Amino acid sequence: ACTAAVPPTVSAAPAAYRDSSLPVAYRVDDLMRRMSLRDKIGQMTQAERSAADSNAAAAAGIGSILSGGGSAPSPNTAQAWADMYDTYQRAAIATPLGIPIIYGVDAVHGHNNVHGATIFPHNIGLGATGDPELVERIGRATAEEIAGTGIDWDFAPCLCVARDDRWGRTYESFGETPERPAAMASVVSGLQGTSLDGPASVLATAKHYVGDGGTTGGDDQGNTEVSEQELRAVHLPPFQAAIERGVGSVMISFSSWNGVKMHANDYLINGLLKGELGFTGFVVSDWQAIDQLDGQEGFTAEEVRTSINAGLDMIMVPYDYQKFMDLLRAEVEAGRVPMARIDDANRRILTKKFELGLFERPFADRSFTGTIGSPEHRETAREAVRESLVLLKNDGNVLPLAKDGGKIFVAGKNADDIGNQSGGWTISWQGSSGPITPGTTIRQGIQQAVSPGTEVTYERNGYGIDNSYRAAIAVVGETPYAEGAGDRPGGLGLDDEDKAMLARLEKSGVPVIVLTVAGRPLDIAAELPAWSALVAAWLPGTEGAGVADVLFGDHGPTGTLPMTWMAGTDQQPINDGDGQRPLFPFGYGLSY
Ligand code: BGC
Repeated sequence: ACTAAVPPTVSAAPAAYRDSSLPVAYRVDDLMRRMSLRDKIGQMTQAERSAADSNAAAAAGIGSILSGGGSAPSPNTAQAWADMYDTYQRAAIATPLGIPIIYGVDAVHGHNNVHGATIFPHNIGLGATGDPELVERIGRATAEEIAGTGIDWDFAPCLCVARDDRWGRTYESFGETPERPAAMASVVSGLQGTSLDGPASVLATAKHYVGDGGTTGGDDQGNTEVSEQELRAVHLPPFQAAIERGVGSVMISFSSWNGVKMHANDYLINGLLKGELGFTGFVVSDWQAIDQLDGQEGFTAEEVRTSINAGLDMIMVPYDYQKFMDLLRAEVEAGRVPMARIDDANRRILTKKFELGLFERPFADRSFTGTIGSPEHRETAREAVRESLVLLKNDGNVLPLAKDGGKIFVAGKNADDIGNQSGGWTISWQGSSGPITPGTTIRQGIQQAVSPGTEVTYERNGYGIDNSYRAAIAVVGETPYAEGAGDRPGGLGLDDEDKAMLARLEKSGVPVIVLTVAGRPLDIAAELPAWSALVAAWLPGTEGAGVADVLFGDHGPTGTLPMTWMAGTDQQPINDGDGQRPLFPFGYGLSY
């Protein structure tokens, strides 16, 4: 075992691990020979930026930092992000071995923590496009924006197969069948680029392994009660697809499988993921997830031991990092965590750091900073928005609307709100309503699309409509949420505000075109007969003009349902083949 630390060589020749002409495996071995147990445990530790500044991180030997749930520098500008990142790297490379940190963020629909970044549709909308090539391009654009802030690692894509729409993370799913998320694993190739050391290559994360979307009742962090055969058939294929594309890391799910927490599952991590599937990247925990193994607050030596021995390579601690390092050290010294396990974890993590070129280019590549929110990236997002729309009803071909003449009425809480149309994981963890970042609202997109003679009236609650309008566009749905807060065990119906607004529009006799801006199918069977048209717009992000592209027929609708659309919340979970009759089947979508 390589427990003895070799001091860095004092000689004119640089250490072998610093020589980029040598093979990565050789450099890793050379570096590991020089590392103490403390150094190695440091590489397995990930702290939140607010818990460890650059000096504290370097002093403790921490190998990774994250911005959890949108935690951003102030001011929240690309420049400040890049400066913050460089400060961490400067401190890390000034340590005796000079091992750079790897910095991770949740850029789950564009570089969504950064003010002014391009916000792409959430995964459910990308699943509706059925277009893996487009999704790969989105991955590339996202990687460029991430690289412009220095960040090396993205906790995306979420490859969950969402099986119960009451789950608050349904919108992070590309679809309810294994095939769509597996196809959309193309985003991994976009994020990582053709090679990890290429320009603007960012390490991707397949998450959350495995079965996160299958919990009973759609409970976030709940229990997935399925046979191993079903786990492998439904929830595993997207991870296999990501591994085939060389995904560099895998994040373990908070959830349990048949009562056993995934973070303790030696069989599924060491056995299936690293063994059978041959995954060679590294495995990271979810946020404070090891704390949950014994159901008590905080973590114990036993939880540290169980998770590391189950195959976790890095722990997102994220606050009490010194305690984690002390406990893991004691477990190793007592022989309860084998040194071989520590070395395996380090080999996996350091291999990715070398492959990313972090030792040669530790600082932010500011040549990409200008791509953040660029017109090119926004155009790609707009393309994704229009491809993501699913036309579900179109009585009398009320759509597409003519651009010329007459008056159009626009209403609804999601018609003119960048925050609402972007959803959770936008600027902050749970997201929020309002003008939180630059973009084009759906109402603005409509206004820009019509010809000068056409009058567009917007009144959020539907007051003032009369039969002089030729159409009413009502943008209804959900307001932002993320994990936990988004669970809706009680039902997925429209809220009172939407219902009251719709009643006003319906009374006017004007044809009502309803757009849902929501993270999932909604329970709208009772209301649907009163509407002339229905379009699912999911959570489109900052480029609302893509909605108008379809409403006015510049592009016909091509999206199809990535989720079965229930006829009522009582049909959940609807996708388990029990013969229920949905409102619209999986894969449904009309065209003009
Ligand atoms: C989420 C992960 C996320 C992590 C870091 C967790 O709460 O489950 O998806 O990557 O936080 O922000």
